[in-house]
Amino acid sequence: MCLITAANKDDSLIVLQELLNSGYTEVTWVYDGFKCPKCRSLDGKKWKLADFIKNLQYEAPIFEKSHVNCGCKLIVKKVNGETAVVDWTGIKQIQKKSEPVKKQKEKPIEKKNWFQKLLHI
Ligand SMILES: [Zn+2]
Ligand SMILES: [Zn+2]
Repeated sequence: MCLITAANKDDSLIVLQELLNSGYTEVTWVYDGFKCPKCRSLDGKKWKLADFIKNLQYEAPIFEKSHVNCGCKLIVKKVNGETAVVDWTGIKQIQKKSEPVKKQKEKPIEKKNWFQKLLHI
């Protein structure tokens, strides 16, 4: 019999419940790419966050769909475009949709600086 000595605990459920409470609605499975047929078959699959949590058999949202120590991630989306990345350790990062807009505003300033430098030469 095979003895599993380093089995991780899937800690994603608490995070997913918190995300549901703060308005997140959709979950997408992202395969970690480690040549696992079971995880690969889940890649890109989508669920409503409420169903994803409601239909659980165990308190292990990621591991129960794949296997213990699965390194896949869940991309959780909010209606306003905000996304959260979750794996078995819990939350990885939250990305607000307003961030790329700020970068676009900075572009004209960069051009001015470049033009001024050129005039000095
Ligand atoms: Zn796997
Ligand atoms: Zn996996």
